[in-house]
Amino acid sequence: MFCECGLRAPLQVSNSIANPGRKYYACPVRRCGWFRWAGPSIQHSEVTDDRSCHFNCNLKLIERVENSIMMLYL
Ligand SMILES: [Zn+2]
Repeated sequence: MFCECGLRAPLQVSNSIANPGRKYYACPVRRCGWFRWAGPSIQHSEVTDDRSCHFNCNLKLIERVENSIMMLYL
């Protein structure tokens, strides 16, 4: 898995309320905001389910917010 920066995206575990413990891949430096759920069966329904897309978008948004919060503490 590679993000849009061309970096190797590590497997991470979500701690969001919507998807606790769910594995995903994300940009290691959180620069491009690239994100993908891990696990083929779940990912399949992800594409067709609009509500799941919402979760994806929400998590992306949370990632961005976390990123900007992290920036403040760096
Ligand atoms: Zn990236």
